[in-house]
Amino acid sequence: MTNQEATAVELRAVTKRYGTGERAVTALDAVHARFGAGTFTAVMGPSGSGKSTLLHCAAGLDRITSGQVVVDGVPLEGLTERRLTRLRRDRVGFVFQAFNLVPALTAAQNVALPLRLARRRPAAGEVEGMLAEVGLAGRAGHRPAELSGGQQQRVAIARALVTRPAVLFADEPTGALDARSGAEVLRLLRTAVDRHGQTIVMVTHDPLAAAHADRVLFLADGRVVDEIGGRAGAEEIAVRTARLEERVRA
Ligand code: ADP
Repeated sequence: MTNQEATAVELRAVTKRYGTGERAVTALDAVHARFGAGTFTAVMGPSGSGKSTLLHCAAGLDRITSGQVVVDGVPLEGLTERRLTRLRRDRVGFVFQAFNLVPALTAAQNVALPLRLARRRPAAGEVEGMLAEVGLAGRAGHRPAELSGGQQQRVAIARALVTRPAVLFADEPTGALDARSGAEVLRLLRTAVDRHGQTIVMVTHDPLAAAHADRVLFLADGRVVDEIGGRAGAEEIAVRTARLEERVRA
């Protein structure tokens, strides 16, 4: 990837404060971050450093206090709730630690859901093709309760990618999985980037997971305090994480 690639998401001096007065918490403190199209970024940092807040603000799930968030060329500030909802639905994918599938729907129906919400009738083979991409061609008719955790997360990834969003946000996508299922999920995310030019921003506390990304951003106290580019190894990421945690404790 070069520096010339298009920008999928940009945060400009983004501050997010929760509460007011003495109880106010600054979760993000004038954060600048740019996520190039077709790149895979991991966001790490100690608990409470602002990782989830960054993801939610960048995805337009949460309104910021000041600054600017631009998704796929569209500044989110000033959008009405309705336009924001539409942008999220059409241009943004989200994968959560807890899968968040609809229990009453089959795998295929879950994957088709974003298309239906956009009033798009899935093209022939579209949903089946997505399920095949995540290795679940034979599970289309199964409900979430009939699938393993790893399989459920793969359905969630298929559901998030079926609209070919400008960016996929993943919040600890392997947090609830065993090592083998987690590795499968990470391989899938990496393939989406390499094969389809998908942009991914993933929050994780696991250096092994972050090692699948092209770049790692480290947050502490609501600020970006460190960055590693170029497919760092898990060991280097673990060392930097430990150093950061020492700094935060000091
Ligand atoms: P992380 O994901 O790195 O653990 P968070 O983004 O969840 O961090 O939280 C950053 C800071 O903002 C923490 O101090 C947290 O307590 C605070 N915070 C997060 N969400 C809320 C909320 N809804 N109301 C008040 N404070 C919040």
